[in-house]
Amino acid sequence: MLISMSKGFLLVISGPSGSGKGTICTKLLRDDKELVFSVSATTRNARKGEREGVNYYFVDDEQFENMIDNGEFIEYARVHRNYYGTPKKPVSDQIARGNIVILEIDVQGALQVKKNYSEAVSIFLLPPTMEELRNRLIGRGTETEEQVDIRYRNAFKELEFVHEYDYVVINDDIMNALNEIKSIIIAEKTRVSRNKNVLENLLHGGGI
Ligand code: ADP
Ligand code: 5GP
Repeated sequence: MLISMSKGFLLVISGPSGSGKGTICTKLLRDDKELVFSVSATTRNARKGEREGVNYYFVDDEQFENMIDNGEFIEYARVHRNYYGTPKKPVSDQIARGNIVILEIDVQGALQVKKNYSEAVSIFLLPPTMEELRNRLIGRGTETEEQVDIRYRNAFKELEFVHEYDYVVINDDIMNALNEIKSIIIAEKTRVSRNKNVLENLLHGGGI
């Protein structure tokens, strides 16, 4: 169970493949030590340069299905023909420590999180144009032509869910997008509901 009164919270970042989630998360994590990345489990193959336990926990179908049966996921979904899921334990440990945990997950997962954790904050990342999305997917060079097509086609279905999110950010200029997300984080951190003991500390604790 996640602690809703804690200063920590879940920050869901979704968006079509190629919208820049990975690029932006890397920069956010580099700049703010209060943020931690939730490492998902997946049944897809590791890409060149990806590391076990850093980018993903790479598991096979049987291991993933055992994790489902044991209730080990906050959410999970089948995305682009593979399983992806957010392990529960590391996330709840980080929230209890007051950290902000980034879940870089697809729309199906984001909807599950929203339903079960009302205090979670969700951001949908958009490309400036669909043509640019396709170009970025091709330019990344990590998928075959067929996989790029699947991801590009899925993007149109994913976009329909943008209205379910709290915030939308357009990733045209990377620094602008990054600054908008940092502003969202600052606003969410300063919500009164996340700072219940601020007055008590001021009046009785000798400082905040
Ligand atoms: P995602 O994680 O959403 O699938 P990536 O972060 O891998 O997307 O970005 C897809 C590609 O687009 C990468 O090659 C990345 O370097 C590039 N990219 C990301 N943001 C921008 C941007 N604002 N302008 C130009 N290229 C970008
Ligand atoms: P990729 O294969 O490009 O790393 O990720 C493909 C998609 O799966 C992306 O939209 C990414 O956000 C999503 N994804 C990654 N981890 C998870 C997860 O734990 N749960 C869900 N639902 N989606 C995930």
